[in-house]
Amino acid sequence: MQRREFIAGVAATLAAAPAAIGNGAHRVIACEEAFTLPEIQAELRRMRGESDTAPVPPHVRAMLDVGEGRLRTMDAAHVDMHVLSLGTPGVQDFETGTAVALAKVVNDRLSAIVRSHPDRFAGLATFAPQDPQAAARELERSVRKLGLCGALFNSHTHGEYLDDARFWAIFEAAEALKIPLYLHPRDPSPALGGPALNIPGFRVGWTFGVEAASHALRLISAGVFDRFPKLQIILGHLGETLPFITSRLDERYRVESASWGDRKLRRLPSEYLRENFYFTTSGMNVWSPLRATIEAVGIERVLFAIDYPFEDQSHAVRGIEDAPLSMGDRRAIFESNAKLVFGLA
Ligand code: MN
Repeated sequence: MQRREFIAGVAATLAAAPAAIGNGAHRVIACEEAFTLPEIQAELRRMRGESDTAPVPPHVRAMLDVGEGRLRTMDAAHVDMHVLSLGTPGVQDFETGTAVALAKVVNDRLSAIVRSHPDRFAGLATFAPQDPQAAARELERSVRKLGLCGALFNSHTHGEYLDDARFWAIFEAAEALKIPLYLHPRDPSPALGGPALNIPGFRVGWTFGVEAASHALRLISAGVFDRFPKLQIILGHLGETLPFITSRLDERYRVESASWGDRKLRRLPSEYLRENFYFTTSGMNVWSPLRATIEAVGIERVLFAIDYPFEDQSHAVRGIEDAPLSMGDRRAIFESNAKLVFGLA
């Protein structure tokens, strides 16, 4: 490079460099941020046989706050926006009628929360996979009438996974509405769980991820993305380890599917991961695995997330601010990719 070009480049970088977070270099949009409603907590307590007078744990108190208290914690951490979603397990453990009815209550309330602070909150709809047709209708209502920008589900529903074709009305609706579906972790299904995956100390850190990553692979294996090629799924925690094993997934898939004939997928596993999935940094705002994810799937597939209230907001923001990313890549992760994926103004 010529010295003159080098100096011009340095000058341009300095002119555009942020002096501090939140000075206009980029917004910070966090997209796996949990909230809940008193109605959901009451139903969960009823289901678990707990008393209504039991003390409310701090993380539930934090999720219930979708007003000034939460905004203050966001301000303190230089977080501009929470893309809100109902905390795990959503409505998926409830009986079908209750789940369908409560999903509507949640989405109505979420829409009102977003309208109260449209520059600070966006919302992912909740739905009840227990009734796939009702879920598809609720997705349409949530997007077209309520202005929500995607939807989130918490992996299995009563032990069932959405690779079963009886659930595919949900994917058909999401693809038609051009909204992403966030596949959020939860405790494993009865078939996956049991003593082998009951590892003290590693319930959330490992077992939740195995549940969600297995669900994602089931969707690929079942041909969901051949049937719905534009469908987009978001995975948290940098893809629950999937971006780190793409070459192995491809190689072993080639061997295992060699005799499948017509049943063979149209693309390689890694191609679905690069073309039908997004990966958020929730709980994984760490440079080395982030770099590996960017190399495996591309910068345009990575979104910032915190996992509030389970992870510290300032720590999460700092992890990306301190990562050795170009300004453009940092802005892509914090802001521009989320705007594109969720269609935010
Ligand atoms: Mn989460």
